Amino acid sequence: MKVDPSLCIRCGACVSVCPFDAIDATDGYVAANERCTECGICEKVCPVGAIEVARKKV
Ligand code: SF4
Ligand code: SF4
Repeated sequence: MKVDPSLCIRCGACVSVCPFDAIDATDGYVAANERCTECGICEKVCPVGAIEVARKKV
């Protein structure tokens, strides 16, 4: 997934909810690491819609 840093309020909700521990928060920025499976859970909890999940091709 990708985070739009201009929208993110750094609430930490996505970091808490990710079941794969795939979101790193460093220096106030959040970003997905290589463990991200694009499951979409974080996208649902982000209060400001800053998260965009890549849709897997079928
Ligand atoms: S899409 Fe899923 S695996 Fe990727 S960062 Fe969000 S909650 Fe974690
Ligand atoms: S849930 Fe949204 S606003 Fe909160 S830290 Fe994650 S990306 Fe930023």
